Amino acid sequence: MLQPIAHYGIHLLAPLFVALVFYKNKWQQAFLIMLAGMLIDLDHLLATPIFDPNRCSIGFHPLHSSFAITFYLFLLIPKKSRLVALGLVIHILADLVDCALM
Ligand SMILES: [Zn+2]
Repeated sequence: MLQPIAHYGIHLLAPLFVALVFYKNKWQQAFLIMLAGMLIDLDHLLATPIFDPNRCSIGFHPLHSSFAITFYLFLLIPKKSRLVALGLVIHILADLVDCALM
């Protein structure tokens, strides 16, 4: 029961926290861009079952593979893609916390 709440709680609160701390004067915009990082969970639609509370996303779904994660880390470097990349990296970290809680 608690697990999905923890899952989406971290997915929402972590970007909100980063936006408020690092992008004070345009935090709403920063928050929305980072939320787009949630879209990588769409790769869950490729899996059966779509949602399995006992499955760790990391390393299972194509957009959660170590190859994809390396790509997200490189996207942190150029200023232009940094916010999107932050959203993606936060998303991966939140999923990692999920896996650790299992
Ligand atoms: Zn995910």
